[in-house]
Amino acid sequence: MINNREVRKLISSKIRKQFVAIVGEENVLDSESSLLNYSYDATPGFQARPHCVLAPRNVFEVSEIVKICNANRIPIVPRGSGTNLSASTTPSKGGVVLLFKNMNEIIEIDEANLTMTVQPGVITQRIIEAAEAKGLFYPPDPGSVNISQIGGNISTNAGGLHGLKYGVTRDYVIGLQVVLPNGEIIETGGKLAKDVAGYDLTRLFVGAEGTLGVITGAVLKLIPKPEATKTMLVLFEDLETSAKAVSAIIENRIIPATLEFLDQATVRVVEDFAQIGLPTDAGAVLLIEQDGPKEIVDRDTERMAKICMETGAMDVQVAQTPEEAYELTSARRTALSALSRMKPTTILEDATVPRSKIAEMVGIINEIAKKYELTVCTFGHAGDGNLHPTCLTDARDTEEMERVDAAFKEIFEEAVRLGGTITGEHGVGEMKLPYLSLKAGEAGVEAMRNIKFALDPNAIMNPGKMFTAKQQR
Ligand SMILES: Cc1cc2nc3c(=O)[nH]c(=O)nc-3n(C[C@H](O)[C@H](O)[C@H](O)COP(=O)(O)OP(=O)(O)OC[C@H]3O[C@@H](n4cnc5c(N)ncnc54)[C@H](O)[C@@H]3O)c2cc1C
Repeated sequence: MINNREVRKLISSKIRKQFVAIVGEENVLDSESSLLNYSYDATPGFQARPHCVLAPRNVFEVSEIVKICNANRIPIVPRGSGTNLSASTTPSKGGVVLLFKNMNEIIEIDEANLTMTVQPGVITQRIIEAAEAKGLFYPPDPGSVNISQIGGNISTNAGGLHGLKYGVTRDYVIGLQVVLPNGEIIETGGKLAKDVAGYDLTRLFVGAEGTLGVITGAVLKLIPKPEATKTMLVLFEDLETSAKAVSAIIENRIIPATLEFLDQATVRVVEDFAQIGLPTDAGAVLLIEQDGPKEIVDRDTERMAKICMETGAMDVQVAQTPEEAYELTSARRTALSALSRMKPTTILEDATVPRSKIAEMVGIINEIAKKYELTVCTFGHAGDGNLHPTCLTDARDTEEMERVDAAFKEIFEEAVRLGGTITGEHGVGEMKLPYLSLKAGEAGVEAMRNIKFALDPNAIMNPGKMFTAKQQR
């Protein structure tokens, strides 16, 4: 924890005055309660106080702040809504937390080019609704859609329930405005469908977790809104059968808009929480949604129901009204909240494997949970092979936490062994930095490190994230 004297040491009264001159006194938050508020995010077990929290009002203010921080080697942690699950906004080296509450405007919806230009602080759900109001569609929809900000989504390359058919945030970011660590403002990409002028810097900043610069604006790609949607719940006796059904659906050349699964433990907890009549006796449940022209949605829904029954499903329930469909999808979205009620600490992980290995991976997760005597519930994006093994535990029990760490290390190793990755959508942050080389290899991490220090030689942007202390400068 940083004490008051350290606050004064890093941010002298002269620097504080400069910050006030840039953003105004009301946007400099350095009371005890503010520093405490921004000392943690949604990731359990990580906490570190910043020295100061600033809420700039435009890109020029961001640029001025960054220049001061760079000259004085003050760390900067850009922060959206803090919903990340990899400790990527805990200010592990102190410094300035940057908020975007004053930069939360939708600047433009361009119906001719099918783009939306936004500031980083816009809540994701607002983007989806603004697109829908024009008959358009912005598909990336992380489970945190009602709280997360687009700047956070872009910086973690967030996935979501539509990932299988429509891709992830990366696939919808076609232009960015970024303040580099030296304070320069750059624009990458734009409204163009084609643009190969130099390196693809847009892609570089997507998923960079605030380690390369501050995103101050984005151009998002929109697509026409699908005409119709149908949602169904399919019940299975066990997870292996549900995994077979997932493969069979895709082998039959159907790509559903949503293909999510919940294991029995998760279904029971979600039903207890949401009380919407989920079948607690099923060993596994698939939530399937299709969208598109009505006749294709009807045809695909019928074919998927048939494929599931032929693969051994116990029952198929198709939502009859939009309200019923909404209840089913919200059941999946509330999984984390529901599980969080069970024990003091909920650690949700993000191991991802090729789709064909889901059943094997869930089996391995259950074995590992048994070996380390832990309660692990698993749900996730079946269509993407993106599993969320969620450990219900208690961070105050240090002996149990050691077992949790050992179990997750084994889970990541097994995921990589099966051709998967240590994180499908949550990012590396501080939580997963020991495992990055498992996936990227030492040479891969070194290449990333070279990019980082070429752009940010003073390591002011979100230090302590992505790279281990040994890999830092
Ligand atoms: C209930 C729940 C469900 C979730 N479901 C999903 C899911 O389905 N899919 C998924 O991918 N994730 C999911 N997440 C994780 C998380 O919500 C996402 O990663 C989300 O994208 C983070 O957005 P945020 O605004 O909270 O960003 P934050 O958590 O505040 O920040 C995330 C990262 O982005 C950086 N950052 C933020 N703004 C900027 C900026 N303007 N410039 C540069 N860097 C910036 C931060 O430094 C940090 O590294 C879920 C989390 C919760 C709590």
